[in-house]
Amino acid sequence: MTVPAPPDLHVYRVGLRTRFRGLTERDGVLLRGDAGWGEFSPFWDYDDDESAAWWRAAVEAAGEGWPAPVRDAVPVNVTVPAVGPDLARHVVARSAGCRTAKVKVAEPGQSVDDEIARLEAVRDALGPGGRIRIDANGAWDVPTAVDRLRVLDRAAGGLEYVEQPCATVDELAAVRRAVDVPVAADESIRRAEDPLAVVRAQAADVVVLKVQPLGGVRACLELAERVGLPVVVSSALESSVGLAAGVALAAALPELPYACGLATAQLFTADVVADPLLPVDGAIAVRRTEPDAALLATHAADDALRARWTERTARVAAVAGTTGPRA
Ligand SMILES: [Mg+2]
Repeated sequence: MTVPAPPDLHVYRVGLRTRFRGLTERDGVLLRGDAGWGEFSPFWDYDDDESAAWWRAAVEAAGEGWPAPVRDAVPVNVTVPAVGPDLARHVVARSAGCRTAKVKVAEPGQSVDDEIARLEAVRDALGPGGRIRIDANGAWDVPTAVDRLRVLDRAAGGLEYVEQPCATVDELAAVRRAVDVPVAADESIRRAEDPLAVVRAQAADVVVLKVQPLGGVRACLELAERVGLPVVVSSALESSVGLAAGVALAAALPELPYACGLATAQLFTADVVADPLLPVDGAIAVRRTEPDAALLATHAADDALRARWTERTARVAAVAGTTGPRA
């Protein structure tokens, strides 16, 4: 599929409710093809080579569509950013019935006491039957991870798992041997030269898959089969156009034992879709989405940002065209 031109290519920009991944707003390209709409929104710190997988995911969505679903709703977690306990409680309370919370930890400048207070507040808001997982985004070394996990597991009243406690596969394996809390691999899968290294090193109990960074729904289904571990599908903080691809992956996986990280439309101040992919009773209904013309106009990027995306899209599409379907 070649790069479409307007009106089949749009650049959006919307605000985020809380700073996330250092961002206060999110922007990206939406493109329309024969099968529907796709989103191309690699973060700006990704170079053209790494962004090629994101382009393939957008082309799959717009040009080809996705495999048939095997379920009609996907249970999702609420995401609690590195905020204080009062706001953490509020985030869980307004999460539309999510029974699983993913809590950010290892935030620079925060102490273990901040994390304990946040986790206690989340447990209080969820009740004893809810599940709590934490995400350290690879920030700890092994001794810190082992130490923190004992404390935080207690504060949370039991952790479902810890996502990416350390940066490397060997460190994940060492943490996994030392603690009872299950370990999930995220960055070690999606930014790795070899995603199967996690499996060989027995470094994880769960893998987190994201459609755009891994090159599309079909590429993720294939990877899930090769990995052979339970999968949690997460978003890359997309609009409801990009989120639909994550929902399609979660809907097509043969097994889905954990809630997915796809309720991130909640983190946006606005969306390009009139009926955003938000959870109801803790689950997102499986469906495709289409942007609304008026919302596209309201949230259109300015000329300078549109020009940057247009150039970037052309460059990345050229790279993707030369690297084949699985770079
Ligand atoms: Mg993560």
